[in-house]
Amino acid sequence: MRTQVGIVGAGPAGLMLAHLLSLQGIESIVIETGKRTDVEHRVRAGVLEQGTADLLDACGAGGRMRSEGVVHDGVVLRFRGEDHRIDLGALTGRGVTVYGQQEIVKDLIAIRLRDGHPILFEVSNVQLHDIKREHPWISFLLDGASIRIDCDVIAGCDGVDGVSRDSIPKRSLTTYSRAYPFAWLGIVATVAPSAADIVYCHHERGFAFLSTRSPAVSRLYLQVAPEERIGDWPDTRIWEELETRLAAHGWSLHDGPITGKGITSMRSLVVEPMQFGRLFLAGDAAHVVPPTGAKGMNLAIREAGILAEALTMWFRTGDISPLDAYSARCLRRVWRAQHFAWWMTSMLHRFPDSDASQVQLQLAQLDYTVNSPAAAKSLAENYVGYEWASE
Ligand SMILES: Cc1cc2nc3c(=O)[nH]c(=O)nc-3n(C[C@H](O)[C@H](O)[C@H](O)COP(=O)(O)OP(=O)(O)OC[C@H]3O[C@@H](n4cnc5c(N)ncnc54)[C@H](O)[C@@H]3O)c2cc1C
Repeated sequence: MRTQVGIVGAGPAGLMLAHLLSLQGIESIVIETGKRTDVEHRVRAGVLEQGTADLLDACGAGGRMRSEGVVHDGVVLRFRGEDHRIDLGALTGRGVTVYGQQEIVKDLIAIRLRDGHPILFEVSNVQLHDIKREHPWISFLLDGASIRIDCDVIAGCDGVDGVSRDSIPKRSLTTYSRAYPFAWLGIVATVAPSAADIVYCHHERGFAFLSTRSPAVSRLYLQVAPEERIGDWPDTRIWEELETRLAAHGWSLHDGPITGKGITSMRSLVVEPMQFGRLFLAGDAAHVVPPTGAKGMNLAIREAGILAEALTMWFRTGDISPLDAYSARCLRRVWRAQHFAWWMTSMLHRFPDSDASQVQLQLAQLDYTVNSPAAAKSLAENYVGYEWASE
């Protein structure tokens, strides 16, 4: 097989890149280790920055997002049992759209298959070759057969546990990594959201988070210890703990059947640069952001946009400068997102070594953030997605 761009991974980054390239008449083949149904049902992120929603719209993939997603123009910080609303709309003129990552994946797969472009699911033993040379290639197994795809460029969009990042010699990468001393227990429940806005809650027993997926489906999280096992959290215990942490004056939590639950570790990772020869990394293959800032999927989709633009220029005109600038342009956004996620995480979570004075410092920061227009605006412009005036 031969293609212009070999894309490893059918998550948001890989599928978005494939779609944007096809709109420019550039061929690609997407390979994916998972089954189509599994990829389409992975419940993960769901908060889209305005720029991400705009990009989905602009490339014709935003139809269902616009009809089924919910636009939020505010976000609530809850502490000492009281709500403080950050008015994203008034402070920035923009908002966020809540629409599940798995729905975006479904939409992009449907578009690609409708357009007759290939996605090869359930591949195994994926290996990247000659990535430093002009003719890189990918080998893998599909239905027991060995397959080789010759490419001009490979896009490594295979997430944090993929093979692309590890195909780059370690000495050529700088890795920044940090593990947080807690995890998030997340649930999906068939119940109308208990609040009109997304709620980030500081509590002495640990952080709690209330979000939505649709008018009838809620997504909630609890900070837990990293070694917690989901088997130790029956549904009643989860609802009781959520009720305790989220308690607020004149407010009550609606519970309902839990349809999915899991524990995700909290960590951050960045590798630099995001390019090695003819291999370009995008999304979680290059970085992991703690979910507190809701940035992971946004970075993945926006990087697909930047890479598609650079590849289009190169294939059309031979100008390689946008491709050479790809890594630095993305990393500027990545570090902004990492800083925001770290800041939100530090302000809202209970650290194992937290003493009374650290809790007071967190509360002082929260108090300042919701009362100072400048501080509130800083949170708001990062939450809806900070756009650099010059890129
Ligand atoms: C368990 C989990 C829970 C998360 N929860 C949240 C959340 O609640 N809120 C939030 O804001 N963010 C969350 N995130 C982050 C967000 O979902 C990611 O940032 C986003 O999925 C990144 O998209 P991506 O396309 O880069 O990678 P992915 O979505 O990981 O897609 C990579 C794809 O590559 C495939 N793949 C892997 N290896 C190979 C290979 N060798 N060959 C071919 N294909 C391969 C994978 O099967 C996958 O389909 C979560 C992430 C994870 C992993």
